[in-house]
Amino acid sequence: MTCKPSTLPPEMEIDIPVIAAKYAEERGRRLQSDGGHKFVRPIGVFEGQYAADPHTPLIQREPVTETIDVIILGAGFSGILTACHLTDAGVSNFRNVDLAGDFGGVWYWNRYPGIQCDNDSYCYLPLLEESDFMPSKKFSDGGEIYSYCKYLAKKFGFHDRALFHTLITSLIWDEEEKYWLVATNRGDSIRARFVVMATGVLNMPKLPNIPGIEEFEGKIFHTARWDYSYTGGSYENPVLDKLVDKKVAIVGTGASAIQAIPNLGKYAKQLYVLQRTPSSVDERPNPPTDSAWVESLKPGWQRERKANFQRAAMEFFQPGEQDQVCDIWTEISRDLAAELQAEGWPELSPQQFAARREVVDYRVMERLRRRVESVVDDPQTAEALKPYYRFLCKRPLSNNEYYATFNQPNVHLIDVAATRGVQRMNVGGFIAQGVEKEVDCMIFASGFEVTSDLERRWGIDVVQGRNGQSIYDYWRNGPLTLHGIMTHGFPNQFFLGYIQGGLNATTTEQFGRQGYHVAYVISEALKRGLNFVQPTREAQEAYVRHFQEVEVDTSQFQRECTPSYFTNEGQVKAPWALFRGYGLGWDAFEKLLQDWRDAGTMEGLELAR
Ligand code: NDP
Repeated sequence: MTCKPSTLPPEMEIDIPVIAAKYAEERGRRLQSDGGHKFVRPIGVFEGQYAADPHTPLIQREPVTETIDVIILGAGFSGILTACHLTDAGVSNFRNVDLAGDFGGVWYWNRYPGIQCDNDSYCYLPLLEESDFMPSKKFSDGGEIYSYCKYLAKKFGFHDRALFHTLITSLIWDEEEKYWLVATNRGDSIRARFVVMATGVLNMPKLPNIPGIEEFEGKIFHTARWDYSYTGGSYENPVLDKLVDKKVAIVGTGASAIQAIPNLGKYAKQLYVLQRTPSSVDERPNPPTDSAWVESLKPGWQRERKANFQRAAMEFFQPGEQDQVCDIWTEISRDLAAELQAEGWPELSPQQFAARREVVDYRVMERLRRRVESVVDDPQTAEALKPYYRFLCKRPLSNNEYYATFNQPNVHLIDVAATRGVQRMNVGGFIAQGVEKEVDCMIFASGFEVTSDLERRWGIDVVQGRNGQSIYDYWRNGPLTLHGIMTHGFPNQFFLGYIQGGLNATTTEQFGRQGYHVAYVISEALKRGLNFVQPTREAQEAYVRHFQEVEVDTSQFQRECTPSYFTNEGQVKAPWALFRGYGLGWDAFEKLLQDWRDAGTMEGLELAR
């Protein structure tokens, strides 16, 4: 698969200083003094937004009392991939534990109508070559990914061992016995030698703290807990026919919202879309998987495709390299590579390269803005839907039906940027731009807690390591780790996610490689009869120092961006900033870990039997 560069033709060149000023103005309208951190915890009256599972009935079971080698918190992709690698490494005495009713993580919970992967499925779905599976199209439907999660768990043989609908409430290190004591909301009491925190990044639905939210007497739910019993239809067949006489409001216009809105617009009597910041939404060609292409693939193709995507999205193509992924994520690199190719790949300093890239960024975003006006009939609505910020300030999206939905007479865009969000809710509806609207239902497509405090995101009351120390205190100002995976004072515990490690454009690749490393350490410890493994303080300090020394300073970019969880809601250098990755790049990080494993000495770890 190859694709062409897509920069604007020269006659449509843009006035960059004017656009830059507009970016700054739009950013100013959205900045919040609290960094966007005012969210309602989804408990109490909002319990259904988090704890209740609308998808699978709760099955009563006896509490489990046992001693096992490994407990994995989470059954999403990071938990699944760790389990696959543990299995491959010969470890089988483990369980995944999850609040959900099955494997899948975000793909279990998120079943809103229209859900589809935003990334190339041939990259995003992990272990395709190992599992003999091929996605049916470029951007898989959510259902296909959810099924694939369960398929992997069955294929690797750990599906039946999981404990579902189970929330871990405390994790306490037993120094005497060298076990983690794990308690759950189902009365389980498990001693686990090793604990893997595969808790996910988008696990905790975020409800904005809109004044009066608790007064609203209509139906309310979050996109990650879609209630088909209210809307009609089902995950498999999203005919939302119970909404035909309903007035519905949806808060948010991010990745989830733009997929759900066309379906809501089709059925709701009236639909109000409450937008604070517009997303950039490209068209989405989504062809079925070409069997001739599948036949042509050589072993190792998925790894190569992911590496190609990584270069396009986070680094840069090598001279002559073809873009294999060919979508909005790779457009800037594709266009710039074409320009440099035409110029015979001139020598450029990093500053010159960044400046060239920025110009292409402006052009691509301008193309996306012009796409809005080419689809949306009403000029005022079209203008309000245009994204005025740099690429990657927010997650780039694609959808063929989103913009056209605003041409329907029952669909109304309400801009709530001026009031930094929805002004107020009351018994019957909401107030925005000073106007009160009655609605039957408020749907929150308001995202997830990504950069808030760890205890809010994990939802585990107690995580206590040696000497009674809480990890929440130890990491109060951000994580301290060796390789982003282990931390001093919390033996036999492993962390997956965006924590002081390498960053990969394919999240499942990043989590999968972390899971691989964790599986190596655990399996080696078990083989060597070790019951205590933790980084030494010195090794941890040296790694953290190295991580900070090589870190790329993105604060300028963040300072100029419209706030979102991609940019820590406007907080530059937030302690839990999502994308603070290893500055020397993904390959260098992978090599660092590979060399460490190859040495076989577990350098920097304190080991005991
Ligand atoms: P996002 O965080 O991307 O979007 C939340 C939306 O809610 C934003 O438009 C935000 O506005 C708005 N919002 C939040 N608070 C308020 C408020 N008080 N008033 C008005 N608006 C508000 O969440 P999503 O669920 O859309 O997506 C989260 C992530 O989930 C994605 O970025 C992606 O990583 C993942 N996802 C992945 C998919 C995939 O295919 N792989 C598909 C769907 C989601 P503002 O921008 O101004 O903050």
